[in-house]
Amino acid sequence: MTTTDTLVAGLYSEGEALVDSKEPAGPLAERWSKRKFSARLVNPANRRKLHVIIVGTGLAGASAAATLGEAGYQVSSFFYQDSPRRAHSIAAQGGINAAKNYKNDNDSVYRLFYDTVKGGDFRARESNVYRLAEVSASIIDQAVAQGVPFAREYGGLLDNRSFGGVQVSRTFYARGQTGQQLLIGAYQALERQVAAGTVTTFSRHEMLELVVVDGRARGIIVRDMVTGAIETHLADVVVLATGGYGNVFYLSTNAMGSNVTATWRAHRKGAHFANPCYTQIHPTCIPVSGDYQSKLTLMSESLRNDGRIWVPKAPDDTRDPREIPEAERDYYLERIYPAFGNLVPRDIASRAAKYVCDEGRGVGPEVGGVRRGVYLDFADAIARLGKASVAAKYGNLFDMYQRITGEDPYEVPMRIYPAVHYTMGGLWVDYDLQSSVPGLFVAGEANFSDHGANRLGASALMQGLSDGYFVLPNTINDYLADGPFEKVPADHPAVVEAVESVRSRIARLLGARGTRSVDSFHKELGHIMWEYCGMERTEEGLRLAIGRIRELREEFWRDVRVLGTNEELNQALERANRVADFIDLGELMCIDALHRRESCGGHFRAESQTPDGEALRDDEHFAYVAAWEWGGDGVPVLHKEDLNYEYVEMKQRSYK
Ligand SMILES: Cc1cc2nc3c(=O)[nH]c(=O)nc-3n(C[C@H](O)[C@H](O)[C@H](O)COP(=O)(O)OP(=O)(O)OC[C@H]3O[C@@H](n4cnc5c(N)ncnc54)[C@H](O)[C@@H]3O)c2cc1C
Repeated sequence: MTTTDTLVAGLYSEGEALVDSKEPAGPLAERWSKRKFSARLVNPANRRKLHVIIVGTGLAGASAAATLGEAGYQVSSFFYQDSPRRAHSIAAQGGINAAKNYKNDNDSVYRLFYDTVKGGDFRARESNVYRLAEVSASIIDQAVAQGVPFAREYGGLLDNRSFGGVQVSRTFYARGQTGQQLLIGAYQALERQVAAGTVTTFSRHEMLELVVVDGRARGIIVRDMVTGAIETHLADVVVLATGGYGNVFYLSTNAMGSNVTATWRAHRKGAHFANPCYTQIHPTCIPVSGDYQSKLTLMSESLRNDGRIWVPKAPDDTRDPREIPEAERDYYLERIYPAFGNLVPRDIASRAAKYVCDEGRGVGPEVGGVRRGVYLDFADAIARLGKASVAAKYGNLFDMYQRITGEDPYEVPMRIYPAVHYTMGGLWVDYDLQSSVPGLFVAGEANFSDHGANRLGASALMQGLSDGYFVLPNTINDYLADGPFEKVPADHPAVVEAVESVRSRIARLLGARGTRSVDSFHKELGHIMWEYCGMERTEEGLRLAIGRIRELREEFWRDVRVLGTNEELNQALERANRVADFIDLGELMCIDALHRRESCGGHFRAESQTPDGEALRDDEHFAYVAAWEWGGDGVPVLHKEDLNYEYVEMKQRSYK
């Protein structure tokens, strides 16, 4: 046992290292071509006999379903909204990265790769990140061919802007609606396959269990959210593209329905959960304004291209910001990080905002005795570019801000504060995007992704579409080449067990008949997570959190009140199922955060910082992916996948 292990003894055990991530060897730039060539093919006639289940119709799931349908596989596509177009991806505002070098500012595949590895604080796999950068350019071509209306320059070329953590302009955008426009593109491609008969969609169906037969993923158990019917769907392979789990914090910028259930159920069936503690806290969100809130709103990072972030130099300065003279303002990001200024990565900008507010220099109304807000000011940009030009770039975001806060950002600076936004953790996958359960593939935010400990802005859409349009369609065939697999009868013991576990859990939730609402448990969990596993984590706080989460779980199952029945539209029941999984996930996140006694990216351990307060990594002990195996009712088992950097030198990040 190492020192680290002794510190968290009893909370987890350590299993064998993960040694085969299936990355091809050889020069980095050739690895993806090599893998595509070595992956076995399935001939078009045989594809028709193979059945693929895809859960999720966000950018990752819709693009995968459309592409695999086009390839000729039989695809069943599941999602809990009433239309694929309502997936959370629709909320993405700012843009999607691609190494096209349209601005001739010295961008390249290698630079995008380098920025992503560095931005992720050297906690991602080099081969995967390089592939992502390589594929990025094709995503834009695909989307343009579908008619996605990216912003264009006067001459007709696609326009670009900058996002945090980079010094080039490589972010393609469609005003502040990039996710929506990309999703319409993917959705149209999906609907084309529905019309062609290769894809069947199942709206308002929530996956509640994975079916594993003889060690392979062979299907899912879903609940029809309108009738309550519990259905079994079997196939040759299952893909989860079910998004992130930021809502474990209760308040986040995620869609209200975003949850962890699909991936958590798969985790309980053998899929390793990787780096669960890596959460992204986004610096530019509308601040919390009171106890009654159930949702936070993102103001896109693109705003940091032109907006300047500042707080008053003096604490408790409550003057109208327009009356505070320049000399009495602290443009703290420009001061501390002159090289990147307001475009430092999200983790750094978020912590800096927290620190100035902790010093009493925050702005806006007090919540819980502290002013938690900083200004994002467009006065300079409006003076330089004109109001019309600023409105053309950011108009819908400004309108949204005004509708929510009642303040006009063209006149007074916006107030922003960090909020939970994205989860870099997720199900562990190898280079083929296959999880530790054979036949279970994972795409988009649901996998532990290519972003290491911190995701750079505009890289999630890139990753989701890379996984769905380009990676999976070239790797899943290698698995399916062994199919079609033997048919699984509906009365197979593994199917019966999965159906029974869903039914008994629903019965238990409905039968508790306690006194507390599901939301009150979710809110309490979110408070614990934000307080102790949020922007700053300490050993003491995390230990406390684990204890409190365990108590909360016990109370939840004893005292939760879920009204209604299963055989109807029952949102309280849906939420109860999700919150039960969030509670279990929350505990694993805290154990993961506790065991990682270093700071890296979004995971800031107060005990591990440089003298000037920056995150201090410990590459000697923690340069690995932490892949957790479900430990039954006992303790989770940690499997480490070492991260080897052959191309990028691991250094302390500096954006100064
Ligand atoms: C406000 C906001 C703005 C953002 N802006 C940007 C941006 O500008 N650029 C960028 O790169 N990234 C951005 N992101 C991040 C990005 O939007 C997401 O990471 C990405 O869209 C996730 O896509 P996905 O396909 O993996 O999952 P999602 O879009 O979350 O889709 C999940 C799908 O899974 C389904 N599902 C989930 N669970 C189940 C279940 N149990 N049963 C059945 N179906 C299920 C849902 O119905 C849905 O179809 C933003 C995020 C937010 C919150």
